[in-house]
Amino acid sequence: MIGDRRSETADCLIIPKKIFDGMLRHCKGGYPNEACGILAGKGNTISKLYEISNTEKSPVSYLMDATEQLKVMKDIRNNDLSMLAIFHSHPSSSACPSGKDVDLAFYEDAAYVIVSLMEREAIVKAFSIRGGDIKEIGICVEHESVA
Ligand SMILES: [Zn+2]
Repeated sequence: MIGDRRSETADCLIIPKKIFDGMLRHCKGGYPNEACGILAGKGNTISKLYEISNTEKSPVSYLMDATEQLKVMKDIRNNDLSMLAIFHSHPSSSACPSGKDVDLAFYEDAAYVIVSLMEREAIVKAFSIRGGDIKEIGICVEHESVA
C-alpha cells in the first residue's frame, strides 16, 4: 500500500482527560467482560464518549448493541461530529488487537482503541486497522483547565 496514505486518520488521537477517565471507568465497570463504546469528535480531537453495551457479555469478545449503536450514530450526526474511534477492553490480555479484532475492523477511517486491564494500571493503545494492516497511533490525553 505504498503511496496510499489517506489523510483521514489522525496520527495522534487527542482525548480530554475527562473522557479518557470515563472510558476507563466504563471498561472497569464491565470487568470481567469486555466493554465497548465509541469516541466522537472532529479532526483528531475527541469531544464525546458513548458507552455501548456488549451484547456478547464475554470476557474475550464484544459486539456493540446494534440499537444503541444506531442511536449513537444519529447523535454523532446531529452534533455534526464524526466517529473517530471505537474502543473496547481486554480484561485479561494485552492492549493489542486480537485476530478477531482485525477481522471485524470494518471502519477503516476510525481508530481502534484498546484498554487492557490485565495489569494493575490500565494500558490504553490506539491503532488504525486497514485491510489487516495494523498501525499504532499515539494517544494524547489532554488536561482541561478548570473553569
Ligand atoms: Zn479485542
